Amino acid sequence: MTPATLVPVELLRKYDRPGPRYTSYPTVPVWSDRIGPDDYATALRAASQRTTEPLALYCHVPFCRRRCYYCGCNTVVTKDRSRAAGYVEILGREIDTVAAMLGDRRQVSLLHFGGGTPTYLTIEEFTKLLDYLRSHFAFQPNAELSIEVDPRVTTFEQIDFLAESGFNRISMGVQDFTPDVQQASGRVQPYEMVARLIEHCRTRRFKGINIDLIYGLPKQTVETFTETLDKALQLRPDRVAVYSFAYLPNAMPHQMRIHQEDLPATEVKYRIFATAVEKFTGAGYRQIGMDHFALPEDELSVAQSDGRLNRNFMGYTVQQAPEMIGFGMSAIGYVNNAFFQSYSKLDSYENAIADKGMAIYRGIQLSADDLIRQYVITNLMCNFRLPFADLEAKFNVRFPDYFGPVETRMEGFIADELLTVHADRLEITPRGRTFVRNIAMTFDAYLAAEPGKAPTFSRTI
Ligand code: SF4
Repeated sequence: MTPATLVPVELLRKYDRPGPRYTSYPTVPVWSDRIGPDDYATALRAASQRTTEPLALYCHVPFCRRRCYYCGCNTVVTKDRSRAAGYVEILGREIDTVAAMLGDRRQVSLLHFGGGTPTYLTIEEFTKLLDYLRSHFAFQPNAELSIEVDPRVTTFEQIDFLAESGFNRISMGVQDFTPDVQQASGRVQPYEMVARLIEHCRTRRFKGINIDLIYGLPKQTVETFTETLDKALQLRPDRVAVYSFAYLPNAMPHQMRIHQEDLPATEVKYRIFATAVEKFTGAGYRQIGMDHFALPEDELSVAQSDGRLNRNFMGYTVQQAPEMIGFGMSAIGYVNNAFFQSYSKLDSYENAIADKGMAIYRGIQLSADDLIRQYVITNLMCNFRLPFADLEAKFNVRFPDYFGPVETRMEGFIADELLTVHADRLEITPRGRTFVRNIAMTFDAYLAAEPGKAPTFSRTI
């Protein structure tokens, strides 16, 4: 198969529709605000019994110095540095409260800092935060400690500090290297700035160095993005994520600074994405999920080959820590088969923590059916396959009995050569990898029950 046929534009056109990214199942729009701190406390106490199972921890640092026009994150834009110091104190209170409920459950195999901009914190603030975490949790020797950094504000001194503190994975936002695109997107960071930072991270032995790119940004063309892809390949990151930009100025008024007439037409966006898949796979990267790529020797690729890749709100991971504790404004956790999320506004979050030590305002307790579908969707999204025997061993259900005749359900995908059905498994083809979200959607009971919910999501391409 030639690269040009790996992602045919007519299939992008056919399958481009609103759909979840499946960083969780059930997806956030069906969560309930009837879930609160009491449910969280009950779940934490139940989780405390599993003392030998490692946890994953997520810490959200919401601050940014200025807002990128395309931003879709939960962020607090401020130049008032004192807010960060107060936030670290509040996080300490939340960590104390949650850790007390977890009792002897202390082992941690994964810690991720996301934002916002985690390196908005000074080294002193970061030290304090890590001290809070270390006073309650024990990081396993092979634990993955990862962080998102913004090349514009992250100093070599901060990188050295992170390396010395045990951080071993790093991810940085690049988006696009074209000066005009950067200008129109409100985020200017020259190629050399990114190259120097990556080089420095390598000297400090960071592994799994990731860069994020975004397609669909203002002033992008196939030609300019091809240059960005070539530059990205020169840097040879271990991992690359290529996200689609969702222009939603009504929901996110700061996006109004992007002129609609500067946005690439939908057909151009398809060709840009197809070029990205072609470039990275052509350069030897493996496609991990729809829009992630990793070098063959990277542990994500190895885990995918072995069928043990995992996915959570932070992205793809090799760590097997199904329970995750979220700390900070808007943070999401998964404990005792339930999702929990804290308030997404800083004041509400800080007030709730000051009051109760927890700030949960919504979530969902998974039913038996949710757990089965979560397993199916996660396997498809991560490993591009679903062995029926694994499903049966884990849930005691036979795939055809539970989901009905697979050929009927998957007819269109089979005809488009996106999926093959075998006696013992479903297998997504190399061409089908780009459409894995569409395939996963057919197992989403909430979309089937309320198809009108789908427009809540950004488009799949
Ligand atoms: S740095 Fe990231 S979180 Fe902050 S404004 Fe830009 S895109 Fe949003």
